[in-house]
Amino acid sequence: MSKSKQERCLQCRLVVQECICSDITPFRTEHRLTLLTNKREEYIHSNTGRLLRLMLENNSLIYVGEKGWEDKVEFEIARSEYTPVIFFPVTPFSDGQEIVKEKGKPLNIIVLDTNWSSARRWLYKIGSMEVKKIGLRTVPPSKYYLRKQPKKENLCTFQAVVSLLEELGSGSSGPATSHMNEMFALWVKSMAKERGLTFPSLGSGH
Ligand SMILES: [Zn+2]
Repeated sequence: MSKSKQERCLQCRLVVQECICSDITPFRTEHRLTLLTNKREEYIHSNTGRLLRLMLENNSLIYVGEKGWEDKVEFEIARSEYTPVIFFPVTPFSDGQEIVKEKGKPLNIIVLDTNWSSARRWLYKIGSMEVKKIGLRTVPPSKYYLRKQPKKENLCTFQAVVSLLEELGSGSSGPATSHMNEMFALWVKSMAKERGLTFPSLGSGH
C-alpha cells in the first residue's frame, strides 16, 4: 500500500497513527485570528493554517472567492472589541504592539493563508478596506522543514502567527505559544518523516 493511500486524520492531516490531535489543548487568546483561505488549500496536507485553528479558539475562517466572502471580511473588520490588522509585511508596515498600546484593544489579526502570489492578489482585493498592515519585528529562522524556502524570511502561516503572538507578548499567550511550538515541532517531524525528508535535530528527550 502506498503512503498516499494511508488513512489521514481529517484535522491535523497526519497519517492516523501519527495524529497529534488528542495532545492539542486549544487556547483562547485575547487577540483574534481571522484566517483567509481558499478551497485549494483544503487539499494541501502541509497547510499550517488548519493547525492554527485547532489550537486557537478565538478564530474565524473565510474562504476567499466564496459567495459573500468580502462581507465576512468587512464584518470581522467592524468588530468593535478589536483593532483589525492585516498580518502581511508590505513596506512600510506598522508594529502590532504599538497599535495595541495606542488603541487599548486586542487585535483581530487577518491572515492570508495561501502562497505569496495569491496573498498579494487578496491583499489587493481587500486593500480598499483601510486596515493597517503589520509585520514581525524580528523574523525567526523557519522551522517548517518541509520545503525549500523561496526566501529565507518567508515563514509558514503557523510559525508567523505564533511569532507574532510571542511578540505581542501579553501574559496570557505565553502558555499558549509554548504549547503551540511544541505541537508544531511534532507535526513537522511526522510530516517530514512521512516525506522521507531529513531535518535538523529537534533535540531528543524534550
Ligand atoms: Zn489529528
